[in-house]
Amino acid sequence: MAHTESDEVLAAAFLQHNAAKIAKHFGLRNRPKVYWTEDRRGHAVVGRNVVTLPSWAKYELEAFQTYYVAHEMSHFVQWQKSGKASHDREFKAIEDEALSLFDLEIVRRPRSHYPVMLSSTDGVLVWKENKWVGS
Ligand SMILES: [Zn+2]
Repeated sequence: MAHTESDEVLAAAFLQHNAAKIAKHFGLRNRPKVYWTEDRRGHAVVGRNVVTLPSWAKYELEAFQTYYVAHEMSHFVQWQKSGKASHDREFKAIEDEALSLFDLEIVRRPRSHYPVMLSSTDGVLVWKENKWVGS
């Protein structure tokens, strides 16, 4: 179900700060604000200058929340750069650069943009996909 604006709750200051850092680094004309919503997925709402994150991510680690902001902000960057909304090679390069501002590296699922792992740039695992692999 798509969220409505009335669902939106302003996210924590560190996430606003992270978004601002990415905007500054890439010379974005816009400085999006970050909100939690009840939507299942995050969005980069270019027309409203808003990043939304799904409220389930509140219960994830800060490294994952930082990743999620970097992901959505990378859509703003790609949009300004080449007018595209994609998860292509160009997008992933932007996302990698955005994550590096927070000392994060991503391992993605094969042929996907979804993260499997996040680690610090010196190789310390900081988040791993929580996937049931039951026996
Ligand atoms: Zn995306």
